[in-house]
Amino acid sequence: MKIVYLSRKDWRARTDIPRLGRSVAPHQRTEVFIHHTVVIDPDATPNVWGTLEQVKAKMRQLQTIRPDLGLDVPYSYVIFFMIGQIVICEGRGAMRTGAHTKYHNTVAIGMAVQGNFNLATFGLLAYLPAIGEWLHRLKVTALPNLGSKHPPGRDCYGHRDVSQTASPGNNLYANLSHVKIQAPVVPPPVKEDDMMVFISEKGRPEVYLLGYPLEHIENPTHLAILIKTAKDAGVEVKRVILPAGHDAFKKLDRTHRPNN
Ligand SMILES: [Zn+2]
Repeated sequence: MKIVYLSRKDWRARTDIPRLGRSVAPHQRTEVFIHHTVVIDPDATPNVWGTLEQVKAKMRQLQTIRPDLGLDVPYSYVIFFMIGQIVICEGRGAMRTGAHTKYHNTVAIGMAVQGNFNLATFGLLAYLPAIGEWLHRLKVTALPNLGSKHPPGRDCYGHRDVSQTASPGNNLYANLSHVKIQAPVVPPPVKEDDMMVFISEKGRPEVYLLGYPLEHIENPTHLAILIKTAKDAGVEVKRVILPAGHDAFKKLDRTHRPNN
């Protein structure tokens, strides 16, 4: 199953309303909660999405759809099922509190699948290992304790484990044990994940992680933890300082850049 990642910049998050949440240290994140958004695709396959443009538009809608939870996507990430692939969209991200699971928004990341999983979903079981594979990559590259706290027999909680709610829907909830935080059984052929490259702009304090899944590290302590986690996992780490105004920075999401 192909996994596509879209940063806030990729899905063109509105920047007139800020990303919400407080900064969370990576080691604090021990739990994963699975939700569903109850937003469906109005066609014959309500939980399977047609195009990436549709996915991006739906992410912008999630910024404002629940004003009671604040004007931002309340989840850490939102997952869309498409034919043969899952798309993971950055919400609050790995390093900020969410507004998805009362009492768990600091220690847990909230992964919402876009759809209503009280409805049957053709091919549901094929998508679930890919979510686990992506969570494993997140654990290895950013959140070393992810999944260390979990319910019996599963790696991930469902929202209804702790709240009076239907989320994540009967069919998804019944199959949550298929979301295992583990490397894929067949490893992907590309080796590019074996290197992490951090870049800074000469004269600026911000540090960015090039590529997947994080773009912007706000706190020097978090950066130190990320580098240690990567090295412990055998990942090569490179730090590069580029000249001011370098092309690389044109591609980055600078919406939180201080003094900007
Ligand atoms: Zn929920």
